[in-house]
Amino acid sequence: MHYTSHIEISRTAFRKNIRYLQSNIGNAKFCSVVKGNAYGHGIEQFIPVAESEGIDYFAVFNAMEAQRILQVKKPQSSIMIMGMIEDGDIEWAVKQNISFYVFEFERLNAAINAAKQTGKKAHIHVELETGLHRTGFDQRDFEKLINILQANKKQLGIEGLSTHYAGAESIASYRRVIEQIALFKRYRALFRKEGIRPKYVHGACSAAALTYPETIMDMVRFGIAQYGFWPSRETKMHKILSGSSEFKADPLRRIIAWKSSVMSVKQIDKGSFVSYGVNYMTDRDIRIAVVPVGYADGYSRKLSNAGYVLINGKKAYVIGLVNMNMLLVNVTNLKNIKRGDEVVLIGKQGNNTISVASFIEQNNAVNYELLARLPGNIPRIVVD
Ligand SMILES: *Cc1c(COP(=O)(O)O)cnc(C)c1O
Repeated sequence: MHYTSHIEISRTAFRKNIRYLQSNIGNAKFCSVVKGNAYGHGIEQFIPVAESEGIDYFAVFNAMEAQRILQVKKPQSSIMIMGMIEDGDIEWAVKQNISFYVFEFERLNAAINAAKQTGKKAHIHVELETGLHRTGFDQRDFEKLINILQANKKQLGIEGLSTHYAGAESIASYRRVIEQIALFKRYRALFRKEGIRPKYVHGACSAAALTYPETIMDMVRFGIAQYGFWPSRETKMHKILSGSSEFKADPLRRIIAWKSSVMSVKQIDKGSFVSYGVNYMTDRDIRIAVVPVGYADGYSRKLSNAGYVLINGKKAYVIGLVNMNMLLVNVTNLKNIKRGDEVVLIGKQGNNTISVASFIEQNNAVNYELLARLPGNIPRIVVD
């Protein structure tokens, strides 16, 4: 039996992205961020692709995601949890050699206890507050923190010293970010002076690494860019326009494609309302194609009367409201559309491409959200 749509992951596109991003970070470690089901690409499908391209360090938000990676990763690959893990699961993480962020004393104590219980080191990333104001030890905690780290050297492996920047993708946050960078460097020196030598000092996400090279340090946590999306238009323009030649082609390739097929084709008379309510009235006789994808599949209702899909290499606009399981597109001007024809919701067909951003042409922040909301039950397949 077939699902009504499927997602394709392109190995070739991923390889191009990795090469480009690696060329930006020199010898720093490439950490692949796969939270949010690998930004919708599918953890189980994405991890082996990344590993086959030489990636061996993965970051997730929570313990459940780490558990999923454990099932599919190569033995030598590392996992880092950047966010939620219950104190009760820390022993499990220690046993599995999963490193995790520590940003408060409760978790630090839980890590030390877990190390004592298991007889193994807890590998931690000490997260510092530099101005995002989300998680991270504050400067006033440092003395106590450093004392605990020094007193428990047997239990703790300091895998990382980390922070996260508050909006490196937008010029409006410029001051905020450069202040964070300066602070993080100061803290790095301070911890070093106290004899605390983390394996990786890391702060950069995609936008930071591409916009502020000094944030690269020992490791970059690449999320959105490895999937072929720019964190924002500003980041893209900054990189492309600061290149050596006057015009440079976009070095990033989207690796995702989302496809379905025409379920039914139907003739509609002039003066009819299409789909629920009165959102769309035909001003002539038209032909529509029904696509079995709706908001239950992650196709936003905001695309009602606005989005488009590709059929036979041509654009077909969504008309009327997007339903729970279906959407309707106008195919009046397309020739020979029949049931079973491929429908591209995201990706390329013929000479046309639908990027996630062009779903709603506002800003690229929608990329993160739309990708992460692609339902986990849509089948993902890897293509070359
Ligand atoms: C999501 C996340 C990243 C990756 O961010 P991108 O903008 O997708 O590159 C890096 N670090 C942390 C802490 C994150 O939460």
